[in-house]
Amino acid sequence: MSNTLTIALSKGRILEDTLPLLASAGIEPLEDPGSSRKLVLDTTQDGVHIVILRATDVPTYVQYGAADVGVAGKDVLMEHGGEDLYEPLDLKIACCRLMVAGKPGSNHGHGALRVATKFVNITRRYFAEQGRQVETVKLYGSMELAPLAGLSDLIVDLVDTGNTLKANGLEPLEHIADISSRLIVNRASMKMKHRRIKALIDSLAAAVEDK
Ligand code: AMP
Repeated sequence: MSNTLTIALSKGRILEDTLPLLASAGIEPLEDPGSSRKLVLDTTQDGVHIVILRATDVPTYVQYGAADVGVAGKDVLMEHGGEDLYEPLDLKIACCRLMVAGKPGSNHGHGALRVATKFVNITRRYFAEQGRQVETVKLYGSMELAPLAGLSDLIVDLVDTGNTLKANGLEPLEHIADISSRLIVNRASMKMKHRRIKALIDSLAAAVEDK
C-alpha cells in the first residue's frame, strides 16, 4: 500500500539510538518497544509502522519490500552484501570498529590461521584481498572466548571501548572498517513512496546534524 510506511528496527543499541532520531522526525511508537511483546507497532504518524526484527534480518526485510526502510549496522550490511538496497544516510549511531583481534602478535602465525567470527563473508573477503590464507569458523556470540579456548588463532569482531578484548587478554590487531548504523531503503519503495521517504530522509538528516 503506497500510503503506508514500514520501518524495520532491531532491539538494543540501534533501537535506543534510532528512536530519538525518529521522534525528531515526528514518529514515535505508541507502545514502548523495549517492553512490548508486539512485533508491529503503530506510531504517532498515520500509516507509519515500526517492526522489530533481529538485526541480521533487517536488510532482508527491506530488500524484499516487506519493510520500506530500515536501520542496520554497516557490519550487518557488509556481511549481507547489501544488494538491491539504497543506503542514503549515515545515522552516525552505534559507532564502533570492525577489527581482527587475538593474543598479542597472533596475526603472524605460520600456515593458515583459523579465524572465529560471526562475519564470515567479511572475514573471507578481507583476508583474500590481502592474499592471506585463513580458515573461518562461524560463531554466533562470545567470539572473545575462541582464542582462549584454543578454537581459533584470531577473531573478527566489533570493538567499541576495547574493554571486552582487554578483559580476556586479547588486543585489537588490524582495523577492517569503521562501523555506524545506516538508513536503508527498498528500491521500489523509493520510487513508489518517494515523497514520504524523501521527507523522512530529510528530517532524519537534520536530526543527525543537530545531535
Ligand atoms: P567494547 O568492550 O566496548 O569494545 O565492546 C565490545 C563488545 O560489544 C563486543 O562483544 C561487540 O560485539 C559489542 N559491540 C561493540 N560495539 C557494538 C555495536 N556498535 N553494535 C553491536 N555490538 C557492539
